[in-house]
Amino acid sequence: MKTRMNELVELLNQYADAYYHMDAPQVSDATYDKLYRELVTLETAHPEWVLANSPTHRVGGKILDGFEKYRHEYPLFSLQDAFSRQELEAFDQRVRKEFPKASYICELKIDGLSISLTYQAGTLVVGATRGDGNIGENITENLKRVSDIPLTLPVPVDITVRGECYMPKASFERVNTLRQEAGEAEFANPRNAAAGTLRQLDTGVVAKRGLASFLYQEASPTEANTQSAVLEKLDNLGFVTNHDYHLADSIDDVWSFIERMAERRDSLPYEIDGIVIKVNDLAVQEEMGFTVKAPRWAIAYKFPAEEKEAQILSVDWTVGRTGVVTPTANLTPVQLAGTTVSRATLHNVDYIAEKDIRIGDTVIVYKAGDIIPAVLSVVEKKRTTQEAMSIPELCPSCGSHLQHYEDEVALRCINPLCPSQLMNRLEHFASRDAMNIAGLGGSIVEKLFSADLVHDVADIYKLTPTAIQTLEGFKEKSAEKLYQAIQASKENSAERLLFGLGIRHVGSKASKILMEAFKDLESLAVADQEAIASLEGLGQVIAKSLTSYFASRGTKTLLAELKEAGVNLTYLGQVARDDAALSGLTVVLTGKLERMKRSEAKAKLESLGANVAGSVSKKTDLVVVGADAGSKLTKAQELGIEIKDEAWLENL
Ligand code: AMP
Ligand code: ZN
Repeated sequence: MKTRMNELVELLNQYADAYYHMDAPQVSDATYDKLYRELVTLETAHPEWVLANSPTHRVGGKILDGFEKYRHEYPLFSLQDAFSRQELEAFDQRVRKEFPKASYICELKIDGLSISLTYQAGTLVVGATRGDGNIGENITENLKRVSDIPLTLPVPVDITVRGECYMPKASFERVNTLRQEAGEAEFANPRNAAAGTLRQLDTGVVAKRGLASFLYQEASPTEANTQSAVLEKLDNLGFVTNHDYHLADSIDDVWSFIERMAERRDSLPYEIDGIVIKVNDLAVQEEMGFTVKAPRWAIAYKFPAEEKEAQILSVDWTVGRTGVVTPTANLTPVQLAGTTVSRATLHNVDYIAEKDIRIGDTVIVYKAGDIIPAVLSVVEKKRTTQEAMSIPELCPSCGSHLQHYEDEVALRCINPLCPSQLMNRLEHFASRDAMNIAGLGGSIVEKLFSADLVHDVADIYKLTPTAIQTLEGFKEKSAEKLYQAIQASKENSAERLLFGLGIRHVGSKASKILMEAFKDLESLAVADQEAIASLEGLGQVIAKSLTSYFASRGTKTLLAELKEAGVNLTYLGQVARDDAALSGLTVVLTGKLERMKRSEAKAKLESLGANVAGSVSKKTDLVVVGADAGSKLTKAQELGIEIKDEAWLENL
């Protein structure tokens, strides 16, 4: 059994490595989950055999009491700033006065938080924040939940490494959407989100937030003679290093790299706020030494802020699926980070009040990553007398009185029959991670709703092809297709249904854990709160939300109707999904394929369960790229979508 445990740890780590470092998953998520669960079972039976590098250390929650101070053996430093080419030239002259032949390495300045990781005999023993450079906080338990930070190294070395822990743009968007739905204040940018996450006392939360890391420094370098060799060494030790660095002999060369990266900046899947220029030769670094707070051999060029002024013309208030009312400003159009922006979020009513934002105001608009632009602040001196913004008292969709709960930053419509909420809920029900009903998107839902054909999710299953055909834009064939997609969704494993019901706090991951434990929805519906709360990865908040949801009479009727319609209420496990490797994924093909015809590629993808789409959007999961790919590839990169090549497709 002990050997099996070792074997599982090794396999799972290898798969995770392929997934995170090489961007080339070797097995499906389902297979990974299966092996993972086997390991958990064995570890529960034999806690004395749990290995230091077991992937199970990464998940599951511990509640910490607080963070202890940690004194760094080697201090962490900050960097001198440069905001112009002139300042870089001045830096270059200072360097060249002493070292005329110096050359530079330019690295991306990742916008996250400095971290320091200490390994003893190849095992991670301490992870800490920078703090004031000498004394930081010990956040080891949290850093262990950052999935790309190695828990053990391939060789038993003692080493301290430094780098940046950050939140990828995609994680940031996901986290903020969830917060918005829960009526919580959104994070202003990925950096704040990463900082807030690393200071969490509940390590389970950290595991869910999807942080990542780039390491770039060895606290006390041995072996390597240059910074580029340090990066290579860190790479070989299994750390994630950033490969977008550039070696430069002159400031001209440095500057052209800066210009190139400034252009690519928006399409990176993470935020950067500048470029760090370091003397590459470590011996030269050592000779140049430090000022009071920063090395003399490095400088950080900071990009100009992506902020612009615009005027607020009007504000729209919209009601989401959970009843949260979100204000969006309509603006005079401005160019921001390469796109024209004419709408920006105002987050919530508390934000508007706090910043005293008024219609007609000139405001600072900014973009943090790929997310929707937001209003940062008001330019007070440009204000011409305006009244404070009027806050709606009634729901813009159903007209019922809005609530502003004390512990929430948002306004909420609490009318369960509010049309806007109902439509958003229907759309969520049909969405990809939920029931995955192809063709049942927002605009079709709206048509069905307006035509009085569908009010709640059970009504979806009462639709007939003839009824669908009465909608504008449908013909016999398209109606039949939607009807078939609806029928097919009845066979889904029940965690999709559970997630699709849109119960507060119950996301797709929690749904899966719940269905694995309770097997069918009817057992879950009568489960007691404690039994739910005690499940690994869940807690009282989710448990309470579920029990009150299932206690309502409306829910009971709904479940009865779904059952009556033949919708599957039981958990089918991995079996059904494992057999199609790309099941439910939306894939886009672009560029010229060398060995396969486009139609063959399409057929192969479809036979593996993928939906092949013609254009790239937020809903795309994968893009398969051939030669001379154009705008679709650019778009995919901008959206941070996973990119694959022809060889990958062939090997599937
Ligand atoms: P500042 O906080 O503006 O003084 O900038 C210094 C910080 O930049 C360091 O503490 C690091 O956290 C961060 N940083 C991000 N990327 C790099 C990098 N490639 N090299 C050095 N520092 C970096
Ligand atoms: Zn309403």
